[in-house]
Amino acid sequence: MTQSAEDALKVIQSHPEGVLQSELWKILEVDSRKCSRLVKKLLDDGLVERVEFRKEGIKTYLLRATRRPVDPLLILAGEELVPCIGCDMECNVIECPRLLDWMYQLAICEVEE
Ligand code: SF4
Repeated sequence: MTQSAEDALKVIQSHPEGVLQSELWKILEVDSRKCSRLVKKLLDDGLVERVEFRKEGIKTYLLRATRRPVDPLLILAGEELVPCIGCDMECNVIECPRLLDWMYQLAICEVEE
């Protein structure tokens, strides 16, 4: 992916409610034609979705990321990374001792804060 496409994706991902294509090119400081090419690339790669949107009677598109970056705080309990990352055990979420330990750790961290 080009740097511009990555920048466009980051802007879109940072707006969970979506960003208008008519605003995106201004944020990226590129012209609207270049922005359309970047959006097409992201659409073709399945990284964003778009829906038609009318703003003050003018047709544009609302762009949303199909996936969002994970908030690192959601996968950390103190210094402990959620054990599911890289796990190769047969998964039983309800009874997983590793996950339970991690969740206790998370609860302890929240009480300490
Ligand atoms: S819940 Fe337990 S077994 Fe399942 S992926 Fe996470 S750590 Fe592995």
